[in-house]
This record gives sequence, structure tokens and C-alpha cells, in this order.
Amino acid sequence: MNIAVIGTGYVGLVTGTCFAETGNNVICVDNDKEKVKRLNAGEITIYEPGLDKLFTRNQREERLKFTTDLAAAVQDAMIVFLALPTPPDKDGRPDLSAVYQVSEQIGENMTAYKVIVDKSTVPVGTTEKVKVLIQKNYQGEFDVVANPEFLREGFAVDDFMKPNRVIIGTGSEKARKIMAELYAAFMRQDNRIIFMDERSAELTKYAANSFLAVKISFMNEIANLCEIYGADVDLVRRGIGTDERIGKRFIFPGIGYGGSCFPKDVIALTRSAKDVGYDFRILQATSDVNKKQKLVLVPRIKKYFKSDLAGKKIAFWGLAFKPNTDDIREAPALEMIEALLKEEAVVHAFDPEAMNNARNKLGNQISYGSQYEVIRDADALVITAEWSEFRTPDFEKMKKLMKKKVIFDGRNVYELSKMEELGFYYESIGRKTINPG
Ligand code: NAD
Repeated sequence: MNIAVIGTGYVGLVTGTCFAETGNNVICVDNDKEKVKRLNAGEITIYEPGLDKLFTRNQREERLKFTTDLAAAVQDAMIVFLALPTPPDKDGRPDLSAVYQVSEQIGENMTAYKVIVDKSTVPVGTTEKVKVLIQKNYQGEFDVVANPEFLREGFAVDDFMKPNRVIIGTGSEKARKIMAELYAAFMRQDNRIIFMDERSAELTKYAANSFLAVKISFMNEIANLCEIYGADVDLVRRGIGTDERIGKRFIFPGIGYGGSCFPKDVIALTRSAKDVGYDFRILQATSDVNKKQKLVLVPRIKKYFKSDLAGKKIAFWGLAFKPNTDDIREAPALEMIEALLKEEAVVHAFDPEAMNNARNKLGNQISYGSQYEVIRDADALVITAEWSEFRTPDFEKMKKLMKKKVIFDGRNVYELSKMEELGFYYESIGRKTINPG
């Protein structure tokens, strides 16, 4: 099939590459000329494990192309995917201007039947609005389908190639058949496509992300309570996770969720519920808890240094909002760094993949270096993302390099007994503080 993917970010690039991998001819469109130039030169513009191999192979086979020419891409395609940004506006509602603008442009360039598929996360009713916008310029037959994307950054290729489920929202039998044929290549073991109406599909995406965010914030509140009670959240986590009704996943305590999806989707659903007169109190609380949790270590760091952080060298391991991605959107590390800079701390940071993005945002306010360079003469180390290289580092080297053996761990990476044995001062989330005195 001939496919156009509009928007070549985290979702669009993975979507385009994976559809090319199953034999389709894919053209990816972006209005960022520089990005398209780099992609055409064979450079992958995001870090996503496993993407490089597929990208290179499909580009070489000429099944995967990149352009800024939306008109030509739409004209040649049978299916047009929208993978456009929907960032929050100042009131928390998703800014749909890119989706709307592109929908009009698609209408201007339609001459025959096509399926327009929305992969962006959009509020209930958007599919209908997209239809109306296309009809402004094109009165022929077409369908608009809601096909929310569930891939996780860091596992995006695997999630796309072997999805838990594919949600297709459409009332059109013709579109349903085309979508079933397109996704058949990803359903070889068993068919996990769930068809539904457009509105339910749109809401399914928000419901999924919001539910996971609720789980995270719930567990973070339990962690905070553990600290007050003197209980150990890791034991509580294991204790509840063995209950199949609860499950083991998404109950790890930490310094909150970040990224481009959970924060914005939770706020968007809260906001759009309010717009139709429904007060979604759990979701409001989830956002409030998360906002506080992202900075939970800052007062503790201040307390440790007796409110005198001026000139203290604080090292950060982790800048991305989670491991295995270079995405720093809404990353707890960045908010913590900003708070510590206000206290005149000197911050040195390492992240395996996100340092370029962080440099673009923070510039020279902080220094960057390798994993061990940044801890040289550090007064404390802060861990904000659980990259695997942080799990079993060379502790003896760390002890030698650091000025003070102090770790604030926002992701509970280390066993308390190990920290005790090594003689580190160690604060984590929902567990007792190890203080060698
Ligand atoms: P992104 O910001 O990484 O990518 C968006 C791309 O669209 C950018 O390359 C941008 O240049 C391009 N773009 C913007 N306006 C354009 C226009 N008018 N014409 C052509 N291109 C344009 O965003 P993303 O993370 O890929 O997210 C896209 C959508 O998918 C969002 O709605 C998001 O909520 C949703 N989503 C994201 C993820 C994720 O993990 N990132 C997962 C599931 C769903």
C-alpha cells in the first residue's frame, strides 16, 4: 500500500519505518526542513533502540522516503496517517492547530478516496472535526479513522511490530477492511485488533495513559507514607504486586512521571471532562501529586546541605524522563536542576542519550561529561532515570572520585544493604535513609 505519514517525530518516524518494514511504500512528511534533510541523508533524528537497522534497510530498499511536500505525498497515498504534535495550551487543553491545519491541507489535495488515520492523541470528537475540515475542500468519498498509538519510547519498535492491541475507531466498513489488511502483518500470532466507534477509540487512549498515571501517583503517595511510618515501599510493592488483580507493573515508586504523554494526557482528560461538566477528581489529584513528587528530593537535598547549596557540586545521572530515550520533555531531572540552580548549586550531568537535547534547552547553565567525569569532586550524586549502566557501576571508583559519598536516588536503583555496606549516605524514595554518620 502507499502510505503517507504526516509528522516525523517519535511516533511518525517509528510508524513510517515499521509500515515500510512490512512492505508498504511509505513517505514521511514534516514541515521541519532541517529534519527532513537529515533523514534523507540517512541520519535518524531520535534515539530509539532498534530503529536504526529498520530505518537503514527500508531507506536503502526505497520503501521509506522523506519530504516536506505534503501535497505530493497525499496525492500518491491511499492511507494518510497524522502523527502530529498535540501539546497542551496554557489551559491544559491539547493544541490541535497542527492537526487542523494539516487536515485542511489534505482536503485541498484529495482527488480520490483515501483513509485519513489519526495517530495523534486527540480529545473526543476530533475525528469528526477532521472530517469537516477535509470536506471544506473536498466533497468526494473518504474516511477518517481514529487509531491512537500506544507505543512506549524506548520500546517503540517492539511495541509497534508486536502490539498488545490495535484500536481502530471507525463506522465505515470500507475503512475497516483497509485497516485490517494493513495491520494483518502485525497480527500473525493472533488478531489483536479491536474495532470500535471513533469516540470510544479517542477516549481509550486517554483512559489508558490516565490509568497508568493514577497507578504511579498512587504508589508515590504510598512511598511518601512509608517514609513517615518507617515502612519500606519496596516490600509493600512486592507485597501488593503479587496480587494478580494489581499486577507487578507501574507500581515502582520514584520522582514522578514525565515525558510528552502522561502529564499532558492526564491534564487534557481532566480539562475536557470539565468542559462537559464532569469533575474528574482522581485525575486532578494524580497531576497534583505528580507535580509535587517531581521535586520531592529537592528539599531533602537542601536539608542535607543545611540550606547552603551555593557552590556545591551536584552530579546528575539521567536527564531523559526515563531510560532508553533521548526525550527530555517534562523530565523530572530538568525541573530538579532548575530548582538547584536557583540555590546556586553547580550542576554536572550525564545521560547516555539525552545530553544534546538537554544542552539545547539548558545551554551552559550546567556542565556535561561522562558518567564518571561528572561525579569527580561531587558533593552529591542524584539519580533521576534508571539507565541500566547505573545499576551496577564501579562503586569503588565512585567512592574515590566523589568528594562526599552522598547519593539521592529518585528511582530506587540500589539495595539499601549494598549502600550500607559501601558506606554511602543514601536517600531514596519510600525507604529508610542510610546514614553512616
Ligand atoms: P513529536 O513532537 O516528536 O513529532 C511531531 C512532528 O510533527 C515533528 O517532527 C514536527 O516537526 C512535525 N510537525 C508539526 N507540525 C507539522 C505540520 N503542520 N506539518 C508537518 N509536520 C509537522 O511528537 P510525537 O511524540 O511523535 O507525538 C505525536 C502525537 O502522538 C502526539 O499527539 C502524542 O501525544 C502522540 N503519542 C506520542 C507517543 C510518544 O511516546 N511520543 C506515544 C503515543 C502517542
